[in-house]
Amino acid sequence: MTLSHEPPQVPGTAHCPLCGKENHCAVSLGEPPEHCWCFAPDIQFTEAMKALVPADKRGRSCICADCVSRLAQGLDKDGLAP
Ligand SMILES: [Zn+2]
Repeated sequence: MTLSHEPPQVPGTAHCPLCGKENHCAVSLGEPPEHCWCFAPDIQFTEAMKALVPADKRGRSCICADCVSRLAQGLDKDGLAP
């Protein structure tokens, strides 16, 4: 789905708080949350992942799919992969 959207009204919410890349969050694109990739059944946000998000970004900016999968693997192995 590549519709032309206006930029998000709130700066920063369209970017991953961990790596700074676009998180492709449906909410930041003005779409319903259930359209977001993070609603896929194989995507799981753990408390450990959320704890990595800076306090001022928590609950506003989504972690991107890359970081979620990277963290999911890293957290399984040895806690926290840099
Ligand atoms: Zn990221």
